Formats: sequence, structure tokens, C-alpha cells
Amino acid sequence: MANEYEIAVFNGDGIGPEIMKPTVSILEQLAAQSDTYSFDFKYADAGALHYANTGESLPEESLEIAKRADAILLSAMGLPSVRYDDGTEISPQIELRKILNLFAGVRPVRIAPGQSSPLNLNPEQAIDFVLIRESTEGLFYSQGKGEVSEHSASETLMITKKTSEDLFEFAFSLAKQRKELGQGKGKVTCVDKANVFRAFAFFRDIFDKESVRHAAIESDHAYVDATALWMVTKPWDFDVLVTENMFGDILSDLGAGIMGGLGLAPSADIGKDAAVFQPCHGSAPDIAGKNIANPFAMILSAAMMLEWLGIKHNDIAMVDDAKRLRDAVDRVVVSGKGTTGDLGGNANTTEAGQAVMEML
Ligand code: ATP
Repeated sequence: MANEYEIAVFNGDGIGPEIMKPTVSILEQLAAQSDTYSFDFKYADAGALHYANTGESLPEESLEIAKRADAILLSAMGLPSVRYDDGTEISPQIELRKILNLFAGVRPVRIAPGQSSPLNLNPEQAIDFVLIRESTEGLFYSQGKGEVSEHSASETLMITKKTSEDLFEFAFSLAKQRKELGQGKGKVTCVDKANVFRAFAFFRDIFDKESVRHAAIESDHAYVDATALWMVTKPWDFDVLVTENMFGDILSDLGAGIMGGLGLAPSADIGKDAAVFQPCHGSAPDIAGKNIANPFAMILSAAMMLEWLGIKHNDIAMVDDAKRLRDAVDRVVVSGKGTTGDLGGNANTTEAGQAVMEML
């Protein structure tokens, strides 16, 4: 009998509901064809529009749905026009990260053979690496707590032993998993600035100790500036990169850039028990309501969810479906038929979702 998984669905703001709709339809189609799994989707309100209407950005009831769920699918949240009294934007996704302690921000960077990219690769060349961004501390630790006086401003970067150990453990496990699935060579690179900052020497030292426990996986280090250069000049050399929060924030946008844009960049925020899957892009209010947004980053995030659930629950068929879904998106992107305007195509959001379904 099929296992039923409860999925919390946050439609969010702007283009959020538009890109979520085809994503849920695809998951329903995959589940309908599967005899190992099914889904029970639980919709949860949150975000800027919800705040504007009710004064609450992440209601208790929605948080409960998220905590109870086996996995959380979240589109985009926040609108520049709706803010808290202190001027900051509404971002329940950041609250969820803190509440559920989702310390590993996983950002895959993939370019399928034949896919166009600003890197001008040869047609057979494929790129496939993963950037892991620590998501609960680092330079974001002092978010909202920085000190500003007339003549100076300061922010605190925090790196803890416990979170770093959990992060590196996660990175080595992911590299092992990728190697077993034939997706990576089994290498983890610690990205830091240990030559300048003591906090990064501390970070690197914890990495080195952790690497000893994972001797079957290769490990090395790189400075963040060199990593930015190599992501452009030789990205095929990477497998799993692991780094601090702010460095990861910047490098993940570079990753989206080499893939051909934010519309293709999925992500997952993963903790010990819970995980949120959402595209890297924001709610794109400039194109909301027109049915022209690219749903592929959301759909690829759903593929990451299938893979995570499949591995967690030992469901190989589910892991295979994740790969099938990724391949289907790749084939649509490479063919150029069924892609949205941001990728040079002329399909709308609904048609782009249908193109993936047909490819499946
Ligand atoms: P945030 O800070 O919330 O991540 P942002 O300010 O980086 O948001 P986005 O909402 O990601 O901005 O939008 C940046 C640009 O990319 C906008 O012009 C938007 O229209 C475009 N964009 C973002 N996502 C998509 C998408 N899925 N399809 C097409 N265009 C998109």
C-alpha cells in the first residue's frame, strides 16, 4: 500500500500561487501513477498579503500545519509595498527557517548538456554541483541587531561549533548520497576566508575534524573570492560546496546566473527533521497576475522534495521520480518549446507546466 505524505503548501505572494498551481498538478500526476506514495496537500496562509488583510504574517494555525507536515512546499513571499512598522519586509520563510532550525540551505547548480548558459559551454558539457549555505547564523546572525552610531556601524558574525558540525555532517552525507546516485565524484569543499578572519579559521578547523570522520569522501578548501572566479571558469570541478550564510547568499545568486537565471534556480532549507522547498527567486510583483512567470524553479524545488522524502523514507521509486521530473524540465528547457519569456520562449505559466507534464 502507498505511504501517504502530508505536504504543507504555502502559496505566498505575487507570482507564488501561479507557479504553485502547475507544481501541485505535476506532483498529483506523479502520485497517481505511483504505487509507493501519495500526497495529502494542506494549504496554509502566510505572507505579505495575508499580513495586509489580517495583521498576521504567519498565523499559529499555518505554523502548526508546517510543523505537522512531512515536508513543506513554499513559493515566494513578501511584497515591497507591504512592510512591518519598522520598515522591514514580511518574510515568514525566514521565521520558518529559525523556528524549524533549518540550518542547511541547499542550492543545486545544474546546467544540462545543450542548455544555453552565459558560460558558453560546449554542447556536451554538463554542470552539476551543490552549494550549501549555512542558514541560521554567520553574518545574518545580527540581522536587525546591528549597531549604528553617527560615525560607525557594526554587525556581528557568529559561527558556532554545534551548527558547523551539523552543517558539515550534512555536507558529507550529501556528497556520499550524490556519489551513490552517480551524480557527483564524492568531494566536499569548505568555502571560507580563513586567511583573514579568525572566525573562518575556526570554521575550517571544525570542517577538517569532521572530514576525518568521512574519509571515503574527498575534502578540500577554497577562499570565497577564488570560488566566485572558479564558478565561472571551471564549475565542472565542484561537487559539494559548503559555506557561511552571507557568502552562500552571494554565491547562490552567481549560481543562478550561470544556470541562465532565477527562473531555473530551486532550493531547499533542511534541518534535522523538517525541510522547506522553495524557488530561489522572490515574488516578482512586477509580473504577478499575468500568468507569465516561469514555474520551473518551483517545479525543480518539488523534485528536490521528492528526492529528500524518498531518501528519508527509503522509497527508491520516489527518488527515481525526482530524477525523472528534473530530466523532464531539462528536456523542455533544452528544446526551448514550452519555456516562458525569461528563457526566450513564448509559453505562459500554465503551458510551461503542461510541457513538463507531457515530457513526463
Ligand atoms: P527577493 O528579495 O524577495 O528574493 P528580489 O528583489 O530578488 O526578491 P524577485 O522577486 O526574485 O526579486 O525578482 C527579480 C526579477 O526577476 C524581477 O524582474 C522578476 O520579474 C524576475 N523574476 C523572478 N522570478 C521569476 C520567475 N519565476 N519568472 C520570471 N521572472 C522572474
